[in-house]
Amino acid sequence: MIAEADLSALGIHRISIPIPFLEAGGPVNAYAIEDRDGGLLLFDSGLGSPEAQAAMAEGLRRIGRSPRDVRRIVVSHGHIDHYGGAAALLEQAGHPVPVHAHPRDIPKMAEGYPRWIDEVPAYASLFQRLGVPLEVMGEAWRQVREGFTKARRIPRVEPLDMGEPLRMRHVTLEPMHMPGHTPGLVCLYEREHRLFLSDDHLLEHVSPNPLLELGSGGEAWRPLVAYMDSVARLRALEVDTVLPGHATPFGDHRAVIDRLLGFYGKRQMRIREELRRAPLTAWEVTTALFPRAPAAAMFLTVSETIANLEVLEARGEVEREGGGEAIRFLLR
Ligand SMILES: [Zn+2]
Ligand SMILES: [Zn+2]
Repeated sequence: MIAEADLSALGIHRISIPIPFLEAGGPVNAYAIEDRDGGLLLFDSGLGSPEAQAAMAEGLRRIGRSPRDVRRIVVSHGHIDHYGGAAALLEQAGHPVPVHAHPRDIPKMAEGYPRWIDEVPAYASLFQRLGVPLEVMGEAWRQVREGFTKARRIPRVEPLDMGEPLRMRHVTLEPMHMPGHTPGLVCLYEREHRLFLSDDHLLEHVSPNPLLELGSGGEAWRPLVAYMDSVARLRALEVDTVLPGHATPFGDHRAVIDRLLGFYGKRQMRIREELRRAPLTAWEVTTALFPRAPAAAMFLTVSETIANLEVLEARGEVEREGGGEAIRFLLR
């Protein structure tokens, strides 16, 4: 595993930025990477809160830089702790700074697209069919409204050219599309020194929370099914050091992945046990798996349940019945 000083020598500087949500697995990381033109490429931008902006400024100052040195920003995925600081940085830079991301996550971070908040009726009808009681939905909805309406979007985000390596001053970074945690999540691979900038695709101590999401084009988005495929691709790569989106760098990515797969395997076994009793709605399975979870966490817990049910479905172990009304899942 590479030492942080050697990482700096490669022109990669990790800037740790505080975030208020504990479940993310620690402070979020932005990576300031020395570009060939003497400026900086930022991989992720942290949150936009005053504390986060101060941490970003301090992180840049520590490497003798300022927001004026930022020449381009690549956002790993459309979650606010990764893109939320970009809008402020664009203003502080004092010159145009292109922002790039995978096309499938651009609607979540750029201005001019519907917000999560606008899609609440569509989500509400989906949750209803999954069996979630109305009062639970109301509580979860209040939580979402508080957390998400403050997000400051980025005026303009261009699609990242996935086939074009990012040639930096000391390293070459290959963008890799790793759908799962979100549909458009991008990681960067540095083959020569076997570094992998994983953002939220692989964290050492936290599972990647495959979140339920309505496909924008009506396509069936199955986050955990996609994640299993993406994480297998990461497992096959030669990696010595993972530079994650939260907390500190770690090695032995295969052991971390195997632990995670074991965790999902156990969860799927528990779901099969529940379904052995009777066909159940996703909500009934959720309350059996997470009996003590608060109503406000409904979005996370139902996402986790449905994602695992979809994996079992994809394997032909489970099927669903009931099209229009409540959906029930049963063992095949
Ligand atoms: Zn995320
Ligand atoms: Zn994150």
